[in-house]
Amino acid sequence: MAVEKTKDLWVFIETEDEGTAKSVGLELLVPGRRLADKQNGKLVAVILGSNVAPALEAVKAHGADEAIVVDQPELKHYNTDAYAKVLCELIEKYGPSVMLIGATNNGRDIGPRISCRLGTGLTADCTALDIDDETGNMAWTRPAFGGNLMATIMCPDHRPQLGTVRPGVFKKSEPGEVKDIPVIKEKVEITDAEKRVELLEVINEMAGELVDLENAEIIVSGGRGVGGPEGFAPVRELAEVLGATVGASRAAVDAGWIPHAHQVGQTGKTVGPKIYIACGISGAIQHLAGMSSSDVIIAINKDPDAPIFNVADYGLVGDLKVVLPILTEKIRKY
Ligand code: FAD
Repeated sequence: MAVEKTKDLWVFIETEDEGTAKSVGLELLVPGRRLADKQNGKLVAVILGSNVAPALEAVKAHGADEAIVVDQPELKHYNTDAYAKVLCELIEKYGPSVMLIGATNNGRDIGPRISCRLGTGLTADCTALDIDDETGNMAWTRPAFGGNLMATIMCPDHRPQLGTVRPGVFKKSEPGEVKDIPVIKEKVEITDAEKRVELLEVINEMAGELVDLENAEIIVSGGRGVGGPEGFAPVRELAEVLGATVGASRAAVDAGWIPHAHQVGQTGKTVGPKIYIACGISGAIQHLAGMSSSDVIIAINKDPDAPIFNVADYGLVGDLKVVLPILTEKIRKY
């Protein structure tokens, strides 16, 4: 286990090919700020990649107190062994108290890898973060038992305290002034022998349509209540007039009415749009886990007792087949 040398809270900033920061890293600076202040530590953004100047600018504008940057060509594309080596060396050297990692594909790979190597704990897929007032330990909250309860987990004797957080759970702050913060530049030697996997080629080919639910400002989602694959046609029409992205419940996805890329919820995507319109979705806890942080929730359901109305800001009781065409027409004319 690495030794805690500071009360600093680190946020891992995953970068893209262009050296920009993935959204989730900037999102995590928001809870990171609150938690770092609570334990009187610095909020440190840890940036790995190649030509990462854009990511550094972004963390400066999103409130980091300090940045540690490892900018090397070998880090342009994610590589488990290379990233694990760099992060473990940094953690051993600087001794942070906490590190937050976005639960992207790469984050889900690197988190367990470094926790195992450092002999510390990791709480995966968290949806809420706090620091326990009595002990000063992180209190990581995540869904457990198929989403039927929320478990708060602590790793009291482990340092650093590591956790992954799903993209979209926290909202990015608006970028502020680009502050002149201390930037520590590190170089870590990575030999070919240390990398057990070699990247030969990157093929940018999407299987199926690209569905960017995480960054959508408006989402219109359909559930079992749409009645079949054809029931998604009026959902898509409403989405089109609103400039929205189409989402779905798992029931609709499991029925084969719409591809999995559209699924919102515990086993789908976590979203936080300005407006979320749930059409024929009952409001099961696993669906709510993925969308309840939306700014405004509008539910359309023929059952006035559907649980979705408990979280909705606006509710419309009625049959989708009647309501959706009227709504779409009115908005089109507006
Ligand atoms: P239903 O619960 O069947 O609700 C359909 C609703 O449509 C009803 O409220 C009904 O009144 C209404 N309706 C019917 N006809 C009409 C009409 N003509 N007009 C208006 N309203 C109508 N679910 C997810 O969504 N996302 C997940 O990621 C997810 N992960 C899961 C993970 C696990 C481990 C488990 C166990 C479950 C998960 N589920 C998930 C499934 C979840 O428990 C529910 O089964 C699912 O969300 C139900 O989808 P639904 O609301 O579309 O269907």
